[in-house]
Amino acid sequence: MLHYSGAVYRPPSEAHSLIIQVTVGCSHNKCAFCNMYKAKQFSITPLEQVLEDLRWARAQYPRVERFFLADGDALILPTAQLLEILGDIRELFPECLRISTYASPKSILKKSPEDLSALRAAGLDFAYLGLESGNDALLKKINKGVTAAQQIEAGQKLKAAGLTLSVTAINGLAGSNGDWQAHAADTAAALNAMRPDYIALLTLRIYTGTPMAEWIASGELVMPEPMELIRETKLLLEHIDCPGAVFRSNHASNYLVLAGTLNQDRARLIGECDEALRGEAPLRKFVELGR
Ligand code: SF4
Repeated sequence: MLHYSGAVYRPPSEAHSLIIQVTVGCSHNKCAFCNMYKAKQFSITPLEQVLEDLRWARAQYPRVERFFLADGDALILPTAQLLEILGDIRELFPECLRISTYASPKSILKKSPEDLSALRAAGLDFAYLGLESGNDALLKKINKGVTAAQQIEAGQKLKAAGLTLSVTAINGLAGSNGDWQAHAADTAAALNAMRPDYIALLTLRIYTGTPMAEWIASGELVMPEPMELIRETKLLLEHIDCPGAVFRSNHASNYLVLAGTLNQDRARLIGECDEALRGEAPLRKFVELGR
């Protein structure tokens, strides 16, 4: 059996990937909105256990085309250890087409360009980076642990190494009583500088036990209404300039489903926001996400 410790998360687009837990938890684990790994003490999975999982999976599954290296931050592993894992995946699963991971900005920044190029050459294809916001005051408030400039540098390093980069931002993160205009404009500016291949705009959700849940309870942060969220999305799109990036706002948390390729679809996407703001487009109902 595969060794899994606690709840294991992966991006929606990794639904068909075999998840290998190369770390348990997130090495940062301090973002004010996030409860994914709060119950876990961070640790790096011993290499022998990862190899055992890979050998077990090889014996069970005739074909595995995609792998996702969990938990929150596989790039925190020493480069030599990651190279060994990637090499073993490629050797044991020659049919593998893609290996992906979450990548925290702090871990990316600790890697040299040579480290990242070596990881790419060894088969690491795809990284998911949580920008959340491009606004420094907001990044500080949510305790992301990095500035917007550092986030941009991290994204650019992954792209320079040849990885496909998917970046998430969080609609509503400033609250309706915060500087949502700065959040939208600065997030667009950060995305423009990073030039990701994919942009996923999620909507803020409040999870029990997080500092953000306390801010909501105390009134320090006011959860935006759906129309306020769409107004913010429209502002972000008005500032965005990422030719070729696939833009998606179709996560279960999003009220208005948007999908297109930038910049060619930007006017259409803005038009769809306008339609929704006029009450002429159907909005999704609130969906519980079960965490
Ligand atoms: S870096 Fe990611 S996984 Fe870790 S606490 Fe922040 S949002 Fe959660």
